[in-house]
Parts: sequence; C-alpha cells; structure tokens
Amino acid sequence: MEKNKLQLAQEKLKSIYGYDQFRDGQRVIIEQVLEGIDTIGIMPTGGGKSLCYQIPALVLPGVTLVISPLISLMKDQVDALNELNIPATYLNSTLSASEESTRQSRIKEGHYKLVYVAPERLNHPSFQHLLEHISLSLVAIDEAHCMSQWGHDFRPSYLSVSSWLDELSQKVTVLALTATATKQVCFDLQQFLHIDQQNVITTGFERTNLTFQVKKGVSKQKFMSSFLAARKNESGIIYASTRKEVEQIFDELASKGFDVACYHGGMSESQRSANQEAFIHDEAKIIVATNAFGMGIDKSNVRYILHYNLPRTIEAYYQEAGRAGRDGEASDCVLLFSPQDVRTQSFLIEQSDRTDDRMEMEYKKLQQMTGFCHTERCLQQYILHYFGEDTNKTCGKCSNCVQAGEKVDRTKEAQMVFSTVKRVRERFGKTMIAQILVGSSNQKIKQLQLNDVSTYGLMKDWTQKDVAEFIDILMAEEYLRATGTSYPTIQLTEKTLPVLKGEEQLFITETLAPAEPQEQDDVFEALRQLRKQLSTDSNIPPYMVFSDRTLKEMSRYIPVTMDELSEISGVGEQKKEKYGQAFLEVLIQFKNNQPVLSERQSKKSSGFSKKGQYLETAKRFKEGASIEQLVEAFSLTEQTIVKHLIRAEQEGIELQLAQFVKEEHRLLINEVAKEVGTDFLKPIKEKLPDHITYQEIRFTLGK
Ligand code: ADP
Ligand code: MG
Ligand code: ZN
Repeated sequence: MEKNKLQLAQEKLKSIYGYDQFRDGQRVIIEQVLEGIDTIGIMPTGGGKSLCYQIPALVLPGVTLVISPLISLMKDQVDALNELNIPATYLNSTLSASEESTRQSRIKEGHYKLVYVAPERLNHPSFQHLLEHISLSLVAIDEAHCMSQWGHDFRPSYLSVSSWLDELSQKVTVLALTATATKQVCFDLQQFLHIDQQNVITTGFERTNLTFQVKKGVSKQKFMSSFLAARKNESGIIYASTRKEVEQIFDELASKGFDVACYHGGMSESQRSANQEAFIHDEAKIIVATNAFGMGIDKSNVRYILHYNLPRTIEAYYQEAGRAGRDGEASDCVLLFSPQDVRTQSFLIEQSDRTDDRMEMEYKKLQQMTGFCHTERCLQQYILHYFGEDTNKTCGKCSNCVQAGEKVDRTKEAQMVFSTVKRVRERFGKTMIAQILVGSSNQKIKQLQLNDVSTYGLMKDWTQKDVAEFIDILMAEEYLRATGTSYPTIQLTEKTLPVLKGEEQLFITETLAPAEPQEQDDVFEALRQLRKQLSTDSNIPPYMVFSDRTLKEMSRYIPVTMDELSEISGVGEQKKEKYGQAFLEVLIQFKNNQPVLSERQSKKSSGFSKKGQYLETAKRFKEGASIEQLVEAFSLTEQTIVKHLIRAEQEGIELQLAQFVKEEHRLLINEVAKEVGTDFLKPIKEKLPDHITYQEIRFTLGK
C-alpha cells in the first residue's frame, strides 16, 4: 500500500481526535481497510472500534456507510463526529419526509464522508435509488454480533445485510466490528461476509481498566449504600433483573437523596428517553435499570456498574459491565450474588417458549454465569477463557486476586438462627425469625406463642434489621433457602446440619464496600463543572466535550497555553478551537492560585508523566539519539518528539536545534519569517520551496 495513506491516517488521529497513537488492533484493521481487504474486527468495548472506520472514511474517497442497530446510537455518533467537524449524517425513521429528502440530496452532492443507517433501510427503494448516485468505498457493520442467532442481541433485520452486500453493484470494502463474539458468532460472521480466518483481527477481550468484584454473603442494600456514598460525584449504572426490583432500588436511593433515575420496559417511551438523557448529560448520576438499558449508550464516563442481580449469561454480563470505563479510566464492576437469583433466572428460562436445544444452551450459559460467582480463579481470566482466550495471566485486582474482607466466626449466631428455623418447623419467613431472635414483643409473636420458643431473645443485642441481613447472608451461602412463594418461608439446607452439630465452624467474610472516599480533586471538579456548562450550551452530552480521561490529564499537567493544551490526549484541533480558551482560563487560575502545584505534579505523576516525558526526550536527544530513534523508543509520532524538543529548548535546555537545519534552509526560513511574521507556520511553509519541512521551520524558529 502507498505508505502515505497510512501516514494520512496517523495525521488525522492527531489533528482531529487529538490522540498520539493507534491502539492495538486499530492500526492493523485500518491498514487492512485502506488496502481494500474485507475484515472482521473484534475488540472489547471501549477498545476504539469507531475509529477503525471513521479514520478510513476520512482517508478514502467517496462515502462510508455505517450500519448501526439503534437510532439513539446513530444520533450520538453523528453528534460526536460533527463536534469534531467531520461531515456525517444519518438516515432513519425519526426524520420528517422533508428532512430526509434534504439529507438525501446533500449525500448525493457529496457533503458527507459518513452516513449512518439502520439495516431495515438497506432494501428501501428510496435508499436503493440513492445508492445509484453515490460512490461507496467502505461499508462498516457496527455491533456485527447482531447478525448471528447465537449472539445475545440477535436482530432479524441484520440478516438482510449479507444478501444486500452480495447484490451490491459497487465494489466496496466491508468491515464488521463487534466486542462480543464467541467462536460461534465469529464463525457465522465469516460465513455471512465471506471473510477468511486470517482477516479476523482480534485484540482480545481483556479490559485492563476494569476491576471485577463478586460479593457473596453481603447485605445488598447495605453494600449498595456505602458503595454509592463513596462515589457521590461519579456516574454509574445499577442493573437489576425485574421492573419491580428496579423501582424498589430507585425509591430507596431517591429517598436517601441520591441523584438517581430509572429505566425499564414498563415505562413510557418518552419517560425512558428523558431518563436516559438525564443520565447521559450527567444530570442523574445514577441510573437503575433492567437489561433493556444500555445498548445505545456510548457515554464514556461511566465509572461503575453494579449488578444487583445475576445476569443470565456471561455475554450479557460482560457487555453490561463493559459499559464502564469506555474512556480507559479505572472503573469498577461489582456483582452482588445471591442463590435466589439463580433460581429466578432458571424459572425465566423454563417459562420461555424455546426449543429444547435452545433451552439447554440457555441453562448451560446460566451455569457458566453462576460459575463466575463461585470460581476462585481470577475473574477477568474466567471471562477470557469463556470467550475462548487461552491465558494464564491474572489481573491482580479482582476480588479473587485480592483477598478482601475479614473472616469472622459466626458459628454461634448461625446455630441460633438454624435452631429457631427448626423449632418453628420451617413455617415462618425471615421477619418472624428475626423477631423471635431479638425477643420482639410484637403482637403477632405473642398470638402465635412464638415467645415460648427456646431461642426467643437469644440475640437481643442485635437489631432486628441486622439479624434479617445475617439471614440473607446465610441464604447467600446456601445454609438456608427461601421457598419460591409469595410469602417465602425459610428452610434449612443440607449444609446446616454439620454446623448445628458443632462439627463445622461458620465464617462470614464481613466485607462492606471499600468506603475509601475518593480523593477530591479541585481542578478536576472545576473542569468538570465547566464541561457541564459548555455541554449544556451546545446541547451535547458532557463526555462529548472532553472525556473524563482528557479532563484528568488536564488536571494533572495543568496546561496553560494552547500549545500545551494540544499535548493533552483527546484535544484535537476542532475541540481546541471551540473549547480551548474556556478551559485555559480555568487552568490558568489554578496555576496562579496554587502554590502547591509542584507538589501536586510530583504526587500525581508517579507513573508515566508527560512532564517527565519531554525532558526524557530532550535528554536522550542530547545524548545523541536521532529523532527516528526516539520515535521508535517512545512510540510517539515524529511531530510529538519535535514538540518535546522545542519545548525543552524554550525552557532553556540547550539543544541547538537550529544546527540540525541546513544553513541555506535556515537563511531562507528566517527571511520568509521576517516577511510574513511568525504567528503561524503555514504561511511560512507555503512561501518556501516544498522540500523544506515543517520540522526544519520549527527548529529554526524554535516553535
Ligand atoms: P468501542 O466502539 O470499541 O466500544 P469507541 O470507539 O467508542 O469504542 O472508543 C472508546 C473511547 O476510546 C472513545 O472515547 C475514543 O475516543 C477513545 N479512543 C479510541 N481510539 C483511541 C486512541 N488511539 N487513543 C486514545 N483514545 C482512543
Ligand atoms: Mg462502538
Ligand atoms: Zn483477577
């Protein structure tokens, strides 16, 4: 392939998106697509799949068609592209007839590089007609697992995509992208799209910025409250399995004063979309939802996912959990386990109207999901194995990799609970058992003469609520079970007897949420507020202004000039122009008012540091390394290395960059600079002979 296409792609990455490097997989996929090779790309959520077709769309001639399953997703993606000044649009059923025809003519006129459509539209006569008037270079199929019946999000309309492609009269390159492809799903995609194994590019499913935790035997409510209290400013999703449960959790959190919204299939369309908007715009920090919520959510600053109930499959779990941390910042995924949830899911499978084969598969998947909650292996590794990745690597931070909590001997209390259950012959529910144990003088207890039970009042040091929670824990650990009726009574299991007889001890891991309050970062908070305000002004979600990751980087390095600002990852030209000034004003204030700045930088930059980086670049350059070698050594672009060197020189480190420019060039550059001024490099470059590079100009002028 001509090298310059790839170079062009690299330049777009920096100038438009503000990123220095392609991620794993992105480079290979983009290279293939630019060469016209049909490709399947499998990358985890947040891996950066969108760039894999957006950048080729900018480099290739003609139009890139993006097939996308959800209308809300389309609008968000197009808004985000327009924010970057990339001409893109979508066609779907939300448009009025006149709007649609305007868009169609603008598409024909070549206004747009990217056009998003839903699969239903492909065989529409008006769309077929439109196709005759445009030249397509690339068809990208986003969320391609929707094409496979084995995928958990199968959409019948996606089936038409492959025949539509087969019948297409133009030669186009096809790129199918997904995050959740089991072997079976991938095989289907290959068949449908006629793509060889060698053109399946997968970067694996690992999400290094996520911390997975399974909590067994904790009180869900208590855990949730303390977990959320420690994360007041952060955005997160709580998934529960039923509408009823969603509403209960919502009510509880709302009554405790949390910024919370809810979302489930029983709400009206308009209510749902209002709540979704509130969440995306950071107005509701928390959303409590059933699994109906999320497919269309590209919000990048979701900092945690709390599963209040067990999902049915690992695919579903990983996709839901994977909605955390799309921006690459550390995020938490916590699953609260109770055995009752396994029964609920089995029941739902049983009730579903499925073939036997299908049913069996669902049970197997549920078992694998349950296995996730019981395994002692690294949780990330368990998931990777599920998706067929052969790895021994452990993540070092999931709840199995780090042993959390303290084991407390609760044998005595457990015996009290068990004997109570036994004495009342398994006829009563949790509340009554708890009331007996704390010695409640409740009317009903007296009526039923339960105050005569020998364990009455044995746990009078405990509150009734604490005893009830203790019973929940014993249920989670399967010492007790509740009958599956509307007034469940508590029964003993086969695990209880050894404990009752004193043959076995019973330890409970008393973990509560790691209540480490998040370090308050004033700069980050100020930037976040500014972002909110700007996003409201332009009517886009805050994360589309800048991601959390970008704001964190700003708060760490506190750039105070436009040049420094463009060093921050995620600051491309368009965003810099649109928002740069506003952010600099806030940042400059902090730089001026904060005498502790140097302390801040040294404290915060213990890991990789941009500040250290440019000095390191300069040091190595001084020691004789060439720019090419530095590009190689640091995996940075030439442009960035040059910037580092110039910055170092401006700060007084003697690099004598000008000496690297031929004398005759230097003279010419200085001459032109005198003539047109040194505010902008472009007019200088334009006046010079073509073979004089920007780098030479920069070195000569020291900017
Ligand atoms: P996916 O579709 O794979 O879930 P997205 O395309 O939405 O992921 O990208 C997730 C986030 O990663 C976005 O905020 C995107 O801007 C960012 N991103 C993508 N590529 C890069 C890169 N090369 N460097 C830094 N950030 C990137
Ligand atoms: Mg995506
Ligand atoms: Zn682990």
